[in-house]
This record gives sequence, C-alpha cells and structure tokens, in this order.
Amino acid sequence: MVVILLGPPGVGKGTQAVRLAAAIDGEHISTGDLLRAARRDGTELGKQAQGYMDAGELVPDALILDLVRDHLASMPSEASLLFDGFPRTTAQADGLDSVLSGVGRQVDRVVLLEASNETLVERMSGRRSCMDCGAVFNVHLNTSEIEGVCDNCGGPLIHRIDDEPDTVLHRLEVYQEQTAPLVAHYEAHDSGLLRVQAERGMDDVYLDVRNAVGV
Ligand code: AMP
Repeated sequence: MVVILLGPPGVGKGTQAVRLAAAIDGEHISTGDLLRAARRDGTELGKQAQGYMDAGELVPDALILDLVRDHLASMPSEASLLFDGFPRTTAQADGLDSVLSGVGRQVDRVVLLEASNETLVERMSGRRSCMDCGAVFNVHLNTSEIEGVCDNCGGPLIHRIDDEPDTVLHRLEVYQEQTAPLVAHYEAHDSGLLRVQAERGMDDVYLDVRNAVGV
C-alpha cells in the first residue's frame, strides 16, 4: 500500500504518520526528517537544503526527487510506504507517480489533514524538536517528561528556526501557493482524496485517519 499524508505544516502529519506506519507495517518517509538528517550529517544535500529550509522555502524539486528515489531504492520493493511532507508540488507528485509506475505500483490513498491557520501557528509556536532523533513535543499539548529533554533518546529539545513566528507565516503562504493545488490534483487522481478534520485530540484524528486509509 502507498499512502500520502497531505496537509499544511503543523497540522500533525508527523505525529499521525508514526502511528499509522506501525498500523500498516510500513515505512514512514518524511522528506523533512531526511533533510534534517542530511544537515546533521553535513552531506552535500544537507548543505544545499539548509538555506531553503531555514527561510521556510521549499527545497528544489530535483533535489527532493533524487532524495526520495535513493531512499526508496534502499528498501524492499514491496514495502508499504507512508509519505509525510512529500509530495509538496505537482512536479513532485508527477515524479512520484513515475517512480512508482516504474516498479508496477501506484498511490493508493491520499489523506488531507485540515486545520485553521490560527491553530497551525499556535501549534508550531509550541513545538519542540529533538536535535538528535527528531521526535516532536509541544509545550502546550504533548510535553516531554523533563523540560528540554527528549523522552525517546535524552537529546536536547529545541525550537526549530523554521518554527519561529515569521517563518511559520511564510511556510503557510508557501503551502497555499505550491502545495494546496495538490488537493485538486489528488481529487482528480485514481487514488482520490479523503479529508480529516485535525483540530481535535490526536487520538480522535488518528481514528479518522485509520478509517480513511481503511486499516
Ligand atoms: P517539514 O518537517 O516537513 O515541515 O519540512 C521542513 C522543511 O524541509 C520545509 O519547510 C522545506 O524547506 C523542506 N522540505 C521538506 N519536505 C520537502 C519537500 N517535499 N519539498 C520541498 N521542500 C521540502
């Protein structure tokens, strides 16, 4: 099965994806996490992506598609896949279709998580991310046991530069301009698109996400 979780930054795609990936016994592929890992490792890709990420801009499609192609090549060809934060442009969606059709696969389900901009800004302002493992906490909704310390790995929790208020507003504009057109794109695609209202507790959202995916 190939599933895409679509939605604006801060809507909770990552949180839902971790649980859903376990439920479908699939690979959680977050291009944001892959890019942050590349930056931590100091790779050429990490260096190229850094400026775009800190400014809240999208990293160019060609770099993202290479990253996804390489990552897919490293996993079993029949693995269930759960994409989080990818695709973010119609060029990336077309690129994904062609990579999948090359191995006789297709996008099966697309789930759109929706929330108001006010909620998204509030969530991202409270978000704290682990510098070592990327786990995400929130000072309002989902606190770590010890302030500033990751429950998963003991790493330091930081407020990401791109979660600062001005950058958050810019990321929401970028979403509207470049990613929101994917809603109509997938509504017209074989996969169809199902909407889940994400301004609720994460357990309620998760139930609806599972129903939408049919697991
Ligand atoms: P995320 O953690 O998914 O919000 O991604 C953080 C940042 O990484 C984004 O603001 C972009 O700069 C970059 N990024 C992640 N995924 C993509 C993608 N599919 N296309 C372009 N840029 C991306």
